[in-house]
Amino acid sequence: MCVFCKIINGEIPSYKIYETDTVMAFLDISQNTKGHTLVIPKKHIESIFDLDEQTGRDLFEAVVKTTNILKNKLGFKDVNLLNNNGSLAGQVVNHYHIHIIPRYGNDECYFKESPHEANFEELAKLCEKLTK
Ligand code: AMP
Repeated sequence: MCVFCKIINGEIPSYKIYETDTVMAFLDISQNTKGHTLVIPKKHIESIFDLDEQTGRDLFEAVVKTTNILKNKLGFKDVNLLNNNGSLAGQVVNHYHIHIIPRYGNDECYFKESPHEANFEELAKLCEKLTK
């Protein structure tokens, strides 16, 4: 059984912030910033590729509610929502989860981005491929 299923079953402890019949939010053990929280479905779903739409709706509703609870209690200004799917994307725990990472400024939390200059011809071709 995966570590997050064990948390849901109460087999290992967690610091629960919010819960419904289908989803749960609890503090991330490694606190990128104060209040770093994970929101997960209660059923074992590995990644976005297996996520059904109803669970997706339940999850995002919980993300909104949990983010507002955290913001009201902790008073941060901004927040990152992060979701890794698959090992190439940095997923370590194979039970779908959305990270809520409060941002305080000078919080020594960094995400690397790899921007490339826009090529509008390529963007047009890609858009056509994705929509036709
Ligand atoms: P990811 O790299 O997106 O798969 O993130 C997995 C996250 O799960 C990491 O931020 C871990 O710190 C967190 N994590 C792993 N085990 C636990 C646990 N027992 N309780 C809370 N968070 C955990």
